[in-house]
Amino acid sequence: MIMRTEVPRRLTVLGSTGSIGTNTLDVVRQLGGRDAFEIMALTGNGNIELLAEQARKFGARLAVTADENRYAALKDALCGSGIAVAAGMSGLDEAAGLDADWVMAAIVGTAGLAPTLRAARRGANIALANKECLVSAGELFLDAVGTGGGQLIPVDSEHSAIFQCLDRNQRHALERIILTASGGPFRAYTREQMAGVTLQAARSHPNWSMGLKISVGSATMFNKAFEMIEAKHLFGVRPEQIEVVVHPQSVIHSMVGYVDGSVIAQLGVPDMRTAIGYALSYPDRSALDVERIDFSKLARLDFEAPDEARFPALRLARTALERGGLQGAVLNGAEEAAFAAFVAERIGFLGMAEVVEAVMDQLTDIGPAGEIADVVQADVEARRRAREVVGRMAAA
Ligand code: NAD
Ligand code: MG
Repeated sequence: MIMRTEVPRRLTVLGSTGSIGTNTLDVVRQLGGRDAFEIMALTGNGNIELLAEQARKFGARLAVTADENRYAALKDALCGSGIAVAAGMSGLDEAAGLDADWVMAAIVGTAGLAPTLRAARRGANIALANKECLVSAGELFLDAVGTGGGQLIPVDSEHSAIFQCLDRNQRHALERIILTASGGPFRAYTREQMAGVTLQAARSHPNWSMGLKISVGSATMFNKAFEMIEAKHLFGVRPEQIEVVVHPQSVIHSMVGYVDGSVIAQLGVPDMRTAIGYALSYPDRSALDVERIDFSKLARLDFEAPDEARFPALRLARTALERGGLQGAVLNGAEEAAFAAFVAERIGFLGMAEVVEAVMDQLTDIGPAGEIADVVQADVEARRRAREVVGRMAAA
Protein backbone atom coordinates (compact mmCIF):
# COMPACT_ATOMS: atom_id res chain seq x y z
CA MET A 1 0.00 0.00 0.00
CA ILE A 2 1.16 3.48 -0.83
CA MET A 3 2.74 5.72 1.77
CA ARG A 4 0.58 8.79 2.20
CA THR A 5 2.44 11.76 0.82
CA GLU A 6 2.34 15.09 2.54
CA VAL A 7 -0.18 17.75 1.59
CA PRO A 8 0.36 19.61 -0.60
CA ARG A 9 1.13 16.83 -3.02
CA ARG A 10 3.81 17.77 -5.51
CA LEU A 11 2.45 17.17 -8.98
CA THR A 12 3.81 17.36 -12.52
CA VAL A 13 1.43 17.18 -15.47
CA LEU A 14 3.01 15.95 -18.70
CA GLY A 15 0.63 17.09 -21.44
CA SER A 16 -1.24 19.69 -19.36
CA THR A 17 -2.72 21.47 -22.39
CA GLY A 18 -4.60 18.44 -23.74
CA SER A 19 -7.97 16.98 -22.92
CA ILE A 20 -6.71 14.90 -19.96
CA GLY A 21 -4.31 17.69 -18.94
CA THR A 22 -6.97 20.40 -18.73
CA ASN A 23 -9.32 18.02 -16.92
CA THR A 24 -6.48 17.23 -14.51
CA LEU A 25 -5.99 20.91 -13.71
CA ASP A 26 -9.72 21.27 -13.19
CA VAL A 27 -9.56 18.41 -10.69
CA VAL A 28 -6.57 20.08 -9.01
CA ARG A 29 -8.65 23.26 -8.72
CA GLN A 30 -11.59 21.31 -7.27
CA LEU A 31 -9.39 19.53 -4.75
CA GLY A 32 -8.04 22.77 -3.34
CA GLY A 33 -5.71 24.17 -5.98
CA ARG A 34 -2.48 25.55 -4.66
CA ASP A 35 -3.36 24.64 -1.06
CA ALA A 36 -3.54 20.97 -1.97
CA PHE A 37 -1.03 20.68 -4.81
CA GLU A 38 2.34 22.16 -5.50
CA ILE A 39 2.69 22.11 -9.27
CA MET A 40 6.26 21.29 -10.15
CA ALA A 41 6.10 21.22 -13.97
CA LEU A 42 3.55 21.57 -16.74
CA THR A 43 4.30 20.56 -20.31
CA GLY A 44 2.60 21.18 -23.64
CA ASN A 45 3.45 21.36 -27.28
CA GLY A 46 1.85 23.94 -29.60
CA ASN A 47 -0.58 25.83 -27.40
CA ILE A 48 1.84 28.24 -25.70
CA GLU A 49 -0.85 30.69 -24.61
CA LEU A 50 -2.73 28.03 -22.64
CA LEU A 51 0.46 26.54 -21.20
CA ALA A 52 1.63 29.94 -19.95
CA GLU A 53 -1.78 30.71 -18.51
CA GLN A 54 -1.85 27.38 -16.66
CA ALA A 55 1.69 27.83 -15.36
CA ARG A 56 0.89 31.27 -13.95
CA LYS A 57 -2.46 30.23 -12.51
CA PHE A 58 -1.10 27.18 -10.69
CA GLY A 59 2.30 28.66 -9.84
CA ALA A 60 4.29 25.97 -11.64
CA ARG A 61 8.02 25.96 -11.09
CA LEU A 62 8.76 24.90 -14.67
CA ALA A 63 6.87 25.14 -17.97
CA VAL A 64 8.04 23.11 -20.96
CA THR A 65 7.05 23.09 -24.59
CA ALA A 66 7.99 19.97 -26.49
CA ASP A 67 8.43 22.14 -29.58
CA GLU A 68 11.89 23.74 -29.54
CA ASN A 69 10.77 26.35 -32.05
CA ARG A 70 8.33 27.69 -29.51
CA TYR A 71 10.84 28.15 -26.69
CA ALA A 72 11.16 31.90 -27.25
CA ALA A 73 7.39 32.35 -27.38
CA LEU A 74 6.99 30.52 -24.07
CA LYS A 75 9.83 32.49 -22.53
CA ASP A 76 8.14 35.73 -23.61
CA ALA A 77 4.76 34.62 -22.34
CA LEU A 78 6.21 33.84 -18.90
CA CYS A 79 8.51 36.84 -18.70
CA GLY A 80 8.65 38.24 -15.17
CA SER A 81 6.74 35.32 -13.65
CA GLY A 82 9.77 33.62 -12.09
CA ILE A 83 8.67 30.37 -13.77
CA ALA A 84 11.54 28.48 -15.38
CA VAL A 85 11.13 27.61 -19.06
CA ALA A 86 12.54 24.75 -21.13
CA ALA A 87 11.84 23.09 -24.48
CA GLY A 88 12.30 19.94 -26.53
CA MET A 89 13.10 16.41 -25.41
CA SER A 90 15.59 17.66 -22.85
CA GLY A 91 12.94 19.98 -21.43
CA LEU A 92 10.47 17.11 -21.10
CA ASP A 93 13.18 15.08 -19.41
CA GLU A 94 13.85 17.91 -16.99
CA ALA A 95 10.13 18.16 -16.18
CA ALA A 96 9.85 14.42 -15.58
CA GLY A 97 12.97 14.46 -13.41
CA LEU A 98 11.79 17.19 -11.02
CA ASP A 99 10.98 15.91 -7.59
CA ALA A 100 7.19 15.57 -7.87
CA ASP A 101 5.48 12.82 -5.83
CA TRP A 102 2.90 12.38 -8.57
CA VAL A 103 3.20 12.60 -12.31
CA MET A 104 0.14 12.70 -14.52
CA ALA A 105 1.28 11.11 -17.80
CA ALA A 106 -1.08 12.74 -20.31
CA ILE A 107 1.02 13.25 -23.43
CA VAL A 108 -0.54 11.61 -26.48
CA GLY A 109 1.31 8.84 -28.29
CA THR A 110 4.81 7.44 -28.11
CA ALA A 111 6.14 10.94 -27.42
CA GLY A 112 5.09 10.32 -23.83
CA LEU A 113 7.20 7.21 -23.35
CA ALA A 114 10.61 8.73 -22.54
CA PRO A 115 9.46 11.31 -19.96
CA THR A 116 7.04 8.88 -18.31
CA LEU A 117 9.78 6.27 -18.03
CA ARG A 118 12.07 8.86 -16.50
CA ALA A 119 9.45 9.74 -13.88
CA ALA A 120 8.75 6.07 -13.15
CA ARG A 121 12.45 5.24 -12.74
CA ARG A 122 12.99 7.96 -10.20
CA GLY A 123 10.12 6.60 -8.12
CA ALA A 124 7.28 9.00 -8.86
CA ASN A 125 3.75 7.70 -8.48
CA ILE A 126 2.40 7.62 -12.00
CA ALA A 127 -1.19 8.47 -12.89
CA LEU A 128 -1.17 6.88 -16.33
CA ALA A 129 -3.34 8.21 -19.14
CA ASN A 130 -0.64 7.68 -21.80
CA LYS A 131 -1.58 4.05 -22.50
CA GLU A 132 0.97 3.95 -25.33
CA CYS A 133 3.65 3.42 -22.63
CA LEU A 134 2.15 0.04 -21.84
CA VAL A 135 1.16 -0.88 -25.38
CA SER A 136 4.66 -0.25 -26.74
CA ALA A 137 6.91 -1.01 -23.83
CA GLY A 138 4.73 -3.14 -21.49
CA GLU A 139 7.17 -5.20 -19.42
CA LEU A 140 9.97 -2.64 -19.63
CA PHE A 141 7.68 0.11 -18.41
CA LEU A 142 6.48 -2.05 -15.52
CA ASP A 143 10.13 -2.84 -14.70
CA ALA A 144 10.85 0.89 -14.53
CA VAL A 145 7.94 1.40 -12.13
CA GLY A 146 9.18 -1.55 -10.06
CA THR A 147 12.72 -0.19 -9.95
CA GLY A 148 11.53 3.26 -8.92
CA GLY A 149 9.16 1.87 -6.33
CA GLY A 150 6.26 4.25 -7.02
CA GLN A 151 2.64 3.36 -7.60
CA LEU A 152 1.07 3.02 -11.03
CA ILE A 153 -2.56 4.13 -11.03
CA PRO A 154 -4.50 3.90 -14.30
CA VAL A 155 -6.40 6.93 -15.53
CA ASP A 156 -7.97 5.31 -18.58
CA SER A 157 -11.61 5.04 -17.46
CA GLU A 158 -11.85 1.29 -18.15
CA HIS A 159 -8.69 0.48 -16.25
CA SER A 160 -9.56 2.83 -13.43
CA ALA A 161 -12.85 0.95 -13.20
CA ILE A 162 -11.10 -2.44 -13.09
CA PHE A 163 -8.57 -1.13 -10.58
CA GLN A 164 -11.46 -0.02 -8.38
CA CYS A 165 -13.28 -3.37 -8.74
CA LEU A 166 -10.27 -5.58 -8.02
CA ASP A 167 -10.20 -7.29 -4.68
CA ARG A 168 -6.48 -7.38 -4.03
CA ASN A 169 -6.79 -10.24 -1.55
CA GLN A 170 -8.57 -12.40 -4.12
CA ARG A 171 -6.35 -12.06 -7.15
CA HIS A 172 -6.22 -15.85 -7.47
CA ALA A 173 -10.02 -15.83 -7.83
CA LEU A 174 -10.04 -13.34 -10.68
CA GLU A 175 -11.48 -15.06 -13.75
CA ARG A 176 -11.88 -12.37 -16.38
CA ILE A 177 -11.93 -8.70 -16.98
CA ILE A 178 -14.59 -7.21 -19.19
CA LEU A 179 -13.68 -4.01 -20.97
CA THR A 180 -16.67 -1.99 -22.07
CA ALA A 181 -16.53 -0.10 -25.37
CA SER A 182 -18.98 2.51 -26.57
CA GLY A 183 -18.58 1.28 -30.14
CA GLY A 184 -17.85 4.84 -31.25
CA PRO A 185 -19.72 6.87 -33.85
CA PHE A 186 -19.81 4.03 -36.42
CA ARG A 187 -21.07 1.27 -34.15
CA ALA A 188 -24.05 0.59 -36.39
CA TYR A 189 -22.35 1.34 -39.74
CA THR A 190 -21.74 -1.25 -42.43
CA ARG A 191 -18.19 -1.56 -43.78
CA GLU A 192 -19.41 0.11 -46.97
CA GLN A 193 -20.61 3.11 -44.95
CA MET A 194 -17.38 3.24 -42.99
CA ALA A 195 -15.31 3.31 -46.15
CA GLY A 196 -16.37 6.87 -46.96
CA VAL A 197 -16.47 8.58 -43.56
CA THR A 198 -14.68 11.90 -43.00
CA LEU A 199 -12.29 12.88 -40.23
CA GLN A 200 -14.99 15.16 -38.88
CA ALA A 201 -17.40 12.24 -38.51
CA ALA A 202 -14.70 9.95 -37.08
CA ARG A 203 -13.74 12.42 -34.36
CA SER A 204 -17.31 12.93 -33.11
CA HIS A 205 -17.55 10.58 -30.19
CA PRO A 206 -21.12 9.96 -29.00
CA ASN A 207 -20.37 10.07 -25.24
CA TRP A 208 -16.88 11.28 -24.40
CA SER A 209 -15.13 14.56 -25.21
CA MET A 210 -11.47 13.68 -25.87
CA GLY A 211 -8.37 14.55 -27.89
CA LEU A 212 -8.33 13.94 -31.66
CA LYS A 213 -6.16 10.81 -31.66
CA ILE A 214 -8.17 8.86 -29.11
CA SER A 215 -11.48 10.00 -30.63
CA VAL A 216 -10.52 8.52 -33.99
CA GLY A 217 -9.17 5.49 -32.12
CA SER A 218 -12.60 5.02 -30.59
CA ALA A 219 -14.16 5.07 -34.06
CA THR A 220 -11.76 2.38 -35.40
CA MET A 221 -11.70 0.64 -32.00
CA PHE A 222 -7.91 0.77 -32.05
CA ASN A 223 -8.32 2.53 -28.73
CA LYS A 224 -9.99 -0.62 -27.36
CA ALA A 225 -7.25 -2.71 -28.95
CA PHE A 226 -4.67 -0.67 -27.04
CA GLU A 227 -6.73 -1.02 -23.89
CA MET A 228 -6.69 -4.83 -24.17
CA ILE A 229 -2.89 -4.75 -24.19
CA GLU A 230 -2.86 -2.13 -21.45
CA ALA A 231 -5.09 -4.40 -19.33
CA LYS A 232 -2.83 -7.40 -19.81
CA HIS A 233 0.13 -5.49 -18.42
CA LEU A 234 -1.67 -3.60 -15.66
CA PHE A 235 -3.52 -6.56 -14.24
CA GLY A 236 -1.26 -9.46 -15.15
CA VAL A 237 -4.02 -11.45 -16.86
CA ARG A 238 -3.75 -13.85 -19.77
CA PRO A 239 -5.09 -12.68 -23.14
CA GLU A 240 -8.00 -15.12 -23.00
CA GLN A 241 -9.14 -13.55 -19.72
CA ILE A 242 -9.74 -10.21 -21.46
CA GLU A 243 -13.20 -9.72 -22.94
CA VAL A 244 -14.63 -6.72 -24.77
CA VAL A 245 -18.32 -5.91 -24.78
CA VAL A 246 -19.94 -3.02 -26.61
CA HIS A 247 -22.01 -0.90 -24.24
CA PRO A 248 -23.20 2.18 -26.11
CA GLN A 249 -24.22 4.26 -23.07
CA SER A 250 -20.70 4.25 -21.50
CA VAL A 251 -22.18 4.14 -18.01
CA ILE A 252 -20.50 0.90 -16.93
CA HIS A 253 -16.83 1.76 -17.31
CA SER A 254 -15.66 -1.87 -17.06
CA MET A 255 -16.13 -5.01 -14.96
CA VAL A 256 -14.28 -7.78 -13.19
CA GLY A 257 -15.56 -11.37 -13.06
CA TYR A 258 -14.61 -13.84 -10.32
CA VAL A 259 -14.50 -17.64 -10.21
CA ASP A 260 -17.77 -17.78 -8.27
CA GLY A 261 -19.65 -16.11 -11.12
CA SER A 262 -19.85 -12.67 -9.49
CA VAL A 263 -19.24 -9.67 -11.68
CA ILE A 264 -18.29 -6.35 -10.09
CA ALA A 265 -18.76 -3.21 -12.16
CA GLN A 266 -17.86 0.45 -11.74
CA LEU A 267 -20.39 2.99 -13.02
CA GLY A 268 -20.39 6.72 -13.56
CA VAL A 269 -21.27 9.39 -16.07
CA PRO A 270 -18.72 9.61 -18.90
CA ASP A 271 -16.47 12.25 -17.34
CA MET A 272 -12.72 11.64 -17.11
CA ARG A 273 -12.46 13.78 -14.00
CA THR A 274 -13.70 10.89 -11.86
CA ALA A 275 -10.84 8.61 -12.93
CA ILE A 276 -8.36 11.51 -12.70
CA GLY A 277 -9.57 12.49 -9.22
CA TYR A 278 -9.38 8.87 -8.10
CA ALA A 279 -5.78 8.55 -9.30
CA LEU A 280 -4.65 11.84 -7.77
CA SER A 281 -6.34 11.09 -4.43
CA TYR A 282 -5.36 7.43 -4.19
CA PRO A 283 -5.65 5.66 -1.81
CA ASP A 284 -8.36 8.09 -0.65
CA ARG A 285 -11.38 9.37 -2.53
CA SER A 286 -12.05 13.07 -2.80
CA ALA A 287 -15.32 14.93 -3.37
CA LEU A 288 -15.74 15.96 -6.99
CA ASP A 289 -18.25 18.21 -8.65
CA VAL A 290 -19.19 15.88 -11.50
CA GLU A 291 -22.65 14.88 -12.64
CA ARG A 292 -24.23 12.00 -10.71
CA ILE A 293 -26.01 9.10 -12.36
CA ASP A 294 -29.76 9.45 -12.00
CA PHE A 295 -30.92 5.84 -12.17
CA SER A 296 -34.54 6.84 -12.55
CA LYS A 297 -33.61 8.53 -15.82
CA LEU A 298 -31.36 5.75 -17.12
CA ALA A 299 -33.81 4.12 -19.44
CA ARG A 300 -31.62 1.14 -20.26
CA LEU A 301 -28.15 -0.28 -20.46
CA ASP A 302 -27.42 -2.16 -23.69
CA PHE A 303 -24.72 -4.68 -24.50
CA GLU A 304 -23.64 -6.37 -27.71
CA ALA A 305 -20.73 -8.46 -28.90
CA PRO A 306 -18.11 -6.49 -30.85
CA ASP A 307 -17.95 -7.24 -34.56
CA GLU A 308 -14.34 -8.00 -35.46
CA ALA A 309 -15.15 -8.06 -39.17
CA ARG A 310 -16.13 -4.39 -39.09
CA PHE A 311 -13.58 -3.52 -36.39
CA PRO A 312 -10.42 -5.54 -37.23
CA ALA A 313 -8.48 -3.60 -34.58
CA LEU A 314 -9.74 -6.00 -31.92
CA ARG A 315 -8.50 -9.01 -33.85
CA LEU A 316 -5.14 -7.30 -34.36
CA ALA A 317 -4.87 -6.72 -30.61
CA ARG A 318 -5.36 -10.45 -30.02
CA THR A 319 -2.67 -11.19 -32.58
CA ALA A 320 -0.29 -8.77 -30.88
CA LEU A 321 -1.07 -10.30 -27.49
CA GLU A 322 -0.38 -13.80 -28.83
CA ARG A 323 2.86 -12.79 -30.51
CA GLY A 324 3.96 -10.75 -27.48
CA GLY A 325 7.34 -9.02 -27.30
CA LEU A 326 7.66 -6.03 -29.59
CA GLN A 327 4.38 -6.60 -31.45
CA GLY A 328 2.72 -4.03 -29.19
CA ALA A 329 5.31 -1.45 -30.27
CA VAL A 330 4.73 -2.42 -33.90
CA LEU A 331 0.96 -2.17 -33.55
CA ASN A 332 1.23 1.21 -31.83
CA GLY A 333 3.81 2.72 -34.20
CA ALA A 334 1.96 1.52 -37.30
CA GLU A 335 -1.34 2.83 -35.95
CA GLU A 336 0.10 6.28 -35.20
CA ALA A 337 1.44 6.49 -38.76
CA ALA A 338 -1.83 5.21 -40.24
CA PHE A 339 -3.78 7.73 -38.15
CA ALA A 340 -1.55 10.55 -39.45
CA ALA A 341 -2.19 9.36 -43.03
CA PHE A 342 -5.96 9.35 -42.42
CA VAL A 343 -5.81 12.88 -40.95
CA ALA A 344 -3.82 13.97 -44.01
CA GLU A 345 -6.51 12.37 -46.22
CA ARG A 346 -4.00 10.04 -47.85
CA ILE A 347 -5.98 6.93 -46.89
CA GLY A 348 -9.59 6.28 -45.98
CA PHE A 349 -10.99 5.20 -42.65
CA LEU A 350 -10.79 1.45 -43.32
CA GLY A 351 -7.27 1.89 -44.66
CA MET A 352 -5.98 2.46 -41.12
CA ALA A 353 -6.54 -1.16 -40.04
CA GLU A 354 -5.24 -2.42 -43.39
CA VAL A 355 -1.98 -0.53 -42.91
CA VAL A 356 -1.54 -1.78 -39.36
CA GLU A 357 -2.24 -5.39 -40.31
CA ALA A 358 0.17 -5.26 -43.25
CA VAL A 359 2.96 -3.87 -41.06
CA MET A 360 2.34 -6.37 -38.25
CA ASP A 361 2.50 -9.21 -40.78
CA GLN A 362 5.80 -7.90 -42.16
CA LEU A 363 7.33 -7.77 -38.70
CA THR A 364 6.23 -11.08 -37.18
CA ASP A 365 9.74 -12.25 -36.36
CA ILE A 366 10.76 -9.05 -34.59
CA GLY A 367 12.50 -10.11 -31.40
CA PRO A 368 11.58 -9.61 -27.76
CA ALA A 369 12.06 -6.24 -26.07
CA GLY A 370 15.33 -6.40 -24.16
CA GLU A 371 15.69 -2.68 -23.59
CA ILE A 372 13.93 0.55 -24.44
CA ALA A 373 16.17 1.09 -27.47
CA ASP A 374 14.54 -2.05 -28.97
CA VAL A 375 11.10 -0.50 -28.47
CA VAL A 376 12.19 2.73 -30.12
CA GLN A 377 13.69 0.81 -33.03
CA ALA A 378 10.54 -1.29 -33.50
CA ASP A 379 8.44 1.86 -33.36
CA VAL A 380 10.57 3.64 -35.97
CA GLU A 381 10.60 0.58 -38.23
CA ALA A 382 6.82 0.12 -37.93
CA ARG A 383 6.25 3.78 -38.87
CA ARG A 384 8.62 3.54 -41.81
CA ARG A 385 6.86 0.46 -43.15
CA ALA A 386 3.46 1.98 -42.49
CA ARG A 387 4.40 5.00 -44.62
CA GLU A 388 5.49 2.64 -47.40
CA VAL A 389 2.17 0.80 -47.27
CA VAL A 390 0.33 4.13 -47.24
CA GLY A 391 2.34 5.25 -50.26
CA ARG A 392 1.35 2.11 -52.19
CA MET A 393 -2.30 2.46 -51.16
CA ALA A 394 -2.42 6.15 -52.07
CA ALA A 395 -0.84 5.42 -55.47
CA ALA A 396 -3.26 2.56 -56.27
P1 NAD B 1 -4.67 15.61 -26.46
O1 NAD B 1 -4.29 15.56 -27.87
O2 NAD B 1 -5.90 16.36 -26.07
O3 NAD B 1 -3.46 16.19 -25.58
C1 NAD B 1 -2.17 15.70 -25.74
C2 NAD B 1 -1.16 16.45 -24.90
O4 NAD B 1 0.14 15.99 -25.31
C3 NAD B 1 -1.15 17.96 -25.11
O5 NAD B 1 -0.79 18.60 -23.91
C4 NAD B 1 -0.07 18.17 -26.16
O6 NAD B 1 0.52 19.44 -26.09
C5 NAD B 1 0.93 17.10 -25.79
N1 NAD B 1 1.71 16.65 -26.93
C6 NAD B 1 1.27 16.40 -28.19
N2 NAD B 1 2.28 16.00 -28.99
C7 NAD B 1 3.39 16.01 -28.21
C8 NAD B 1 4.76 15.70 -28.46
N3 NAD B 1 5.19 15.30 -29.66
N4 NAD B 1 5.63 15.80 -27.44
C9 NAD B 1 5.20 16.17 -26.20
N5 NAD B 1 3.93 16.50 -25.92
C10 NAD B 1 3.03 16.42 -26.91
O7 NAD B 1 -4.77 14.09 -25.95
P2 NAD B 1 -5.69 13.49 -24.79
O8 NAD B 1 -6.99 13.08 -25.35
O9 NAD B 1 -5.63 14.34 -23.58
O10 NAD B 1 -4.91 12.12 -24.52
C11 NAD B 1 -3.71 12.07 -23.78
C12 NAD B 1 -3.43 10.61 -23.43
O11 NAD B 1 -4.46 10.13 -22.57
C13 NAD B 1 -3.45 9.67 -24.64
O12 NAD B 1 -2.49 8.66 -24.43
C14 NAD B 1 -4.84 9.07 -24.61
O13 NAD B 1 -4.90 7.80 -25.21
C15 NAD B 1 -5.09 8.99 -23.12
N6 NAD B 1 -6.49 9.00 -22.74
C16 NAD B 1 -7.26 10.08 -23.01
C17 NAD B 1 -8.60 10.10 -22.64
C18 NAD B 1 -9.47 11.31 -22.89
O14 NAD B 1 -10.59 11.36 -22.41
N7 NAD B 1 -9.01 12.31 -23.60
C19 NAD B 1 -9.15 8.99 -22.00
C20 NAD B 1 -8.34 7.89 -21.73
C21 NAD B 1 -7.01 7.91 -22.09
MG1 MG C 1 -10.49 4.28 -22.21
